[in-house]
Amino acid sequence: MSSVTLQGVSKSYGAVAALRTMDLEIAQGEFLTLLGPSGCGKTTTLRLVAGFIAPSSGRILFGGDDVTDLPVQKREIGMVFQDYALFPHMTIADNIGFGLVERGRRPAEIASKVNELIQLIRLPGVENRFPAELSGGQQQRVAVARAVAHSPRVLLMDEPLGALDLKLREAMQAEISAIQRALKITTVYVTHDQSEAMSMSDRIAVMNDGVVEQLGSATEIYNRPASRFVASFVGQINLVEGDFAGIEGAWAAVSVGGTKVHVAAPEWIAGRVTIGVRPEQLSIRPAEGSLPAGTNALPGTVRSSMFAGHIFKVEIDAGTAAPIVVETHPNAPVPAVGARVRVAWNAPNAVVLAS
Ligand code: ATP
Repeated sequence: MSSVTLQGVSKSYGAVAALRTMDLEIAQGEFLTLLGPSGCGKTTTLRLVAGFIAPSSGRILFGGDDVTDLPVQKREIGMVFQDYALFPHMTIADNIGFGLVERGRRPAEIASKVNELIQLIRLPGVENRFPAELSGGQQQRVAVARAVAHSPRVLLMDEPLGALDLKLREAMQAEISAIQRALKITTVYVTHDQSEAMSMSDRIAVMNDGVVEQLGSATEIYNRPASRFVASFVGQINLVEGDFAGIEGAWAAVSVGGTKVHVAAPEWIAGRVTIGVRPEQLSIRPAEGSLPAGTNALPGTVRSSMFAGHIFKVEIDAGTAAPIVVETHPNAPVPAVGARVRVAWNAPNAVVLAS
């Protein structure tokens, strides 16, 4: 297996820039996910790495070897698609061993590899069945085994769980992660599902309109989103508009409708700013009384509250463009609708967002 490097890679179809210039270094053995909404360029990027399409500019390297001009069959990749694409008239064993037969490997070697992979995907006993005799999740595990049987340099997966229902998807996320870790295979994974990306990836490239807006671990992207787009696409976030009111010690002061709050300041902070705070970082406090040092608080009125089993979701009208959503522990007391309160958070738990 290899590292994968994209150097200034772009792809245009006539006037449509499917992928603007991308520079990306994927480490050997890393699980990297391309995450973004429909049409942002995820599949285009994957197809460029695979060699199904040629870039309009830039170079693609596997482990330092320039593969830009190599056709797909010479790149030694493994691919998994949403629709499994198993051969319906071949047994499971023949499906898994297909790439090895094509490469002229000895029957004993093929049998041993197929057996090893059947154990890895935890489906012993299915060797002689046909794909139609397996469930969707089982078929997808076979598709993964087939994709890795020839020890490809890179494993590419395009929405592989898209056809499965939610419960099965979650189980399969764990399965695929375990297989990827066991084989330590460099993997590029495409999904539009943020929870899938967060639970499986070493790093996530969040894409928007043909550009990587942020590259980082799940926690970096969730806790320190680099832009409004990333903050809103990955999880729920409250966006609070305010005016920069100067630096005070380690913090930037921002006036939100006349109330001063403090945030960690990016260098570019100026003028009108947007603060992002996740609902689970907020708490509801009494309208009056002192708060611990370092607590930001905005006055407001309880607009609604909804019990969602594991949380209470409370909306507070605080003079912001949209009501502020607070998620509280289901055992915490929830003030009545109409009550005057303050919505509070610790200063380090908010971010200033670029638009
Ligand atoms: P989805 O999640 O819907 O599959 P995506 O993020 O994978 O979306 P891409 O398939 O990479 O998006 O497409 C990126 C952009 O390039 C889109 O605007 C798409 O319409 C355009 N595009 C992709 N393939 C072609 C093509 N063969 N000809 C013209 N435009 C294309």
